[in-house]
Amino acid sequence: MCAQQAPRKHKHSTDPSGNPKKPDLPGLVIVNYGKNMVVEDATGMLVNCVSRRNIGQIVCGDRVHWQETGENAGVITALLPRDTVLQRDTGNGTQRPLAANIDQLVIEAATEPALDSFLLDKYTVAAELAHAGAVIVINKADLLSAQDRQAIDVLLQEYRAIGYPCLYTSVLKNTGIDEFSAQLAGKTSILVGQSGVGKSSLVKRLLPDLDITTGRLSVASGQGKHTTTATTLYHLPCGGALIDSPGVRDFKLGSVESVRLGGGFREFHPFLGQCRFNDCLHRGEPGCAVTAALEQGRISKRRMQSYRLLLEMCL
Ligand code: GDP
Ligand code: ZN
Repeated sequence: MCAQQAPRKHKHSTDPSGNPKKPDLPGLVIVNYGKNMVVEDATGMLVNCVSRRNIGQIVCGDRVHWQETGENAGVITALLPRDTVLQRDTGNGTQRPLAANIDQLVIEAATEPALDSFLLDKYTVAAELAHAGAVIVINKADLLSAQDRQAIDVLLQEYRAIGYPCLYTSVLKNTGIDEFSAQLAGKTSILVGQSGVGKSSLVKRLLPDLDITTGRLSVASGQGKHTTTATTLYHLPCGGALIDSPGVRDFKLGSVESVRLGGGFREFHPFLGQCRFNDCLHRGEPGCAVTAALEQGRISKRRMQSYRLLLEMCL
């Protein structure tokens, strides 16, 4: 991580009444502790910020404007437009942003705990609806028999065919890590997947300076200790960034309006808008272009089944 802490000074002009006018500075929210956040300025320095009221909920990955209020302290004055936002259901029908400006979800899975292809689909739908990409990582490759590997290859082929990169890693045997790093380079990724698949292990492997980074964050935030529950953006040595937090890792796909669900399946995209009915839910309605594509073998039967299961949950 290139961020470092040092006293900072800014030259201030004065406003018409002669008071110093603090400039608005660009920053990136790298940790969110609720009311407090750590903002990284353009030079990589860390500032402990609170947010002005009425500028909306700020989350990790947000680009903001902030003003200095003291040494390494500031106030967020504006939230800049987001490219993407990953949302979570609050349970009472509303959604809450979890992280912003993500390029891709990294969906980690393994055979221990058992590989759940429906869960993979739910994550790819969440990525698609957040306008983000997705990469599928099968960790614990060292545990796979030749037979397991063959079966997983068949499954992954479905995802590869629709443009999701898929790879195998083993943190234990240190295989596939370079290939994985290459997928992360230059992008902002967020790590998701079931508990036990090896997310912490993979994060530690990718971030050899993790302890130093969390130490710096504790100092910057004044929180005493950097709590692992806080959503945090880590800069990766390979370039790019990884957003991680236990709360985000196992997030559930929020409620989706049934007519929007098809948009979560990227292989449906060429056919959406071609169905006879505008509000077609692609479950055998006459003139359904998605069903026709399924019958022509252009859409995987298994993915269609996932779509229909998810649709039942939406209706
Ligand atoms: P998380 O819950 O997804 O963060 O998973 P952890 O990183 O805590 O890993 C869960 C368990 O899987 C731990 O006992 C790890 O040592 C083990 N583990 C992680 N990666 C690998 C791997 O590549 N191969 C094997 N065999 N075990 C692994
Ligand atoms: Zn249709």
